[in-house]
Amino acid sequence: MIAPGETIGILGGGQLGRMIAMAAAQLGYRCHVFAPEADSIAAEVSAAFTCASWDDAGAMAAFAADCAVVTYEFENVPVGPLAALGAVALLPHPRALETAQDRLNEKRFVNALGGTPAPFAPVDSADDLASAVAKIGAPGILKTRRDGYDGKGQWRVMTPDDVGKLELPAKPLIYEGFVTFFAEFSVILCRGRDGDIRFFDSAHNVHEGGILAISTVPAPAAVLEQVPTARALAAKAAEALDYVGVLTMEFFATANGPVFNEMAPRVHNSGHWTIEGAVTSQFENHVRAICGLPLGSTGLAAKAVEMRNLIGDDAHDWQAILSDPANHLHLYGKAAARPGRKMGHVTRLTLD
Ligand code: AMP
Repeated sequence: MIAPGETIGILGGGQLGRMIAMAAAQLGYRCHVFAPEADSIAAEVSAAFTCASWDDAGAMAAFAADCAVVTYEFENVPVGPLAALGAVALLPHPRALETAQDRLNEKRFVNALGGTPAPFAPVDSADDLASAVAKIGAPGILKTRRDGYDGKGQWRVMTPDDVGKLELPAKPLIYEGFVTFFAEFSVILCRGRDGDIRFFDSAHNVHEGGILAISTVPAPAAVLEQVPTARALAAKAAEALDYVGVLTMEFFATANGPVFNEMAPRVHNSGHWTIEGAVTSQFENHVRAICGLPLGSTGLAAKAVEMRNLIGDDAHDWQAILSDPANHLHLYGKAAARPGRKMGHVTRLTLD
């Protein structure tokens, strides 16, 4: 067990790290952030900050020497340099990073567990794409296998004719059949060091332009029907990875049941509602899990919860948002609002 007062290392310096650090501080831990960018909003609320590139082995080793346990808030941390952490525990296990960093790996992993991903095929050339579209059909989406997030690194293929029009980036790609869904939802679980698994309520997620806009709990009944199957898959994934901490899986709710979209080996935007809306937030339970503390209840603290992301200029409305006393406003302290940039979120509870 890692007792309060000890130091938790966080790889990655964004809002997820910031909210982990805030939950850790509440439990009496200090946090040390490691991130390549100097303007880390996680470091702003942490005791220590190492600003260095991922492959700076000396900086990584010195960081590890200050930490009782290390976690990550960003799933694209390169795995190779993490060897410099030496004996300090990295949780969740880097196996989860390796699986989730590559869309092809994660879909194969889910297939092997008996789950249903969108039909997919690896694409490394224009010929591969033509045969993938011939096999899977169009419409579909061509995605970079690595480093894609919030709809970045994605190209729609509406008809087979589009294949010739696309300029393929020189990166490993994956072609996915377009899934006809009536809703999107996520399963967020937390697994303790002792294997105890707790699920948060599944939020109904609405995306706009590939970016999460709104998460609501409870999800509609038609989505809730699909949650047990999705949870069973997420629990299998957590067990197969000997996972410790919060794990997220995103699903499409379809007429034929839940179709796996992607997994994130970390706390997730669609779980931000848990800060006020659950008895224990995803951030606190992640800290509890990696430190070997008992997990807190994931039960609802309200009848219903809605979380809305503040993207780009939305955050300029902070005064109007605060003029409604029922709103919980979270601003991440990012300097510049850019289109598509997550600047904060607002959570509203329905209590009766
Ligand atoms: P991703 O970054 O892969 O989660 O994609 C962002 C969003 O694009 C998803 O939440 C969906 O709304 C949409 N999307 C991605 N892949 C597919 C697919 N295979 N079929 C339908 N919609 C998709």
